Amino acid sequence: MDRVEERKKALRSMFQAVIDPLGYKFSPDEEIVDFLLEREVALEDKHGIPYCPCQGIMGNREDDMKIVCPCIPFHRKHFDAMKRCWCGLYVHKDVTDPDSLRQIPESEIEQ
Ligand code: SF4
Repeated sequence: MDRVEERKKALRSMFQAVIDPLGYKFSPDEEIVDFLLEREVALEDKHGIPYCPCQGIMGNREDDMKIVCPCIPFHRKHFDAMKRCWCGLYVHKDVTDPDSLRQIPESEIEQ
């Protein structure tokens, strides 16, 4: 196993421990999971932190800490409404068809 594959496996194991008590699991779409974890390893190599592969780094620490994966605790209401995280790396545990879920802009979620 090469270094990137090893790191993907390690991140997967660490993230699993965080998302499980939050009621989430990795998406059943293994292709998406593999792709996103690979992007996170690249971001971690570049920035030292596995930032979100789908959200832009702002350059200020307070905002950027909210997009360190898994960012579910910072966006709980939004992600719970979609039953998925923004990227689709994680879904609610009862989701079997991730393609049936859609992204909903945060502005459309009732506060
Ligand atoms: S949107 Fe998903 S993949 Fe992106 S940081 Fe948040 S939990 Fe991770």
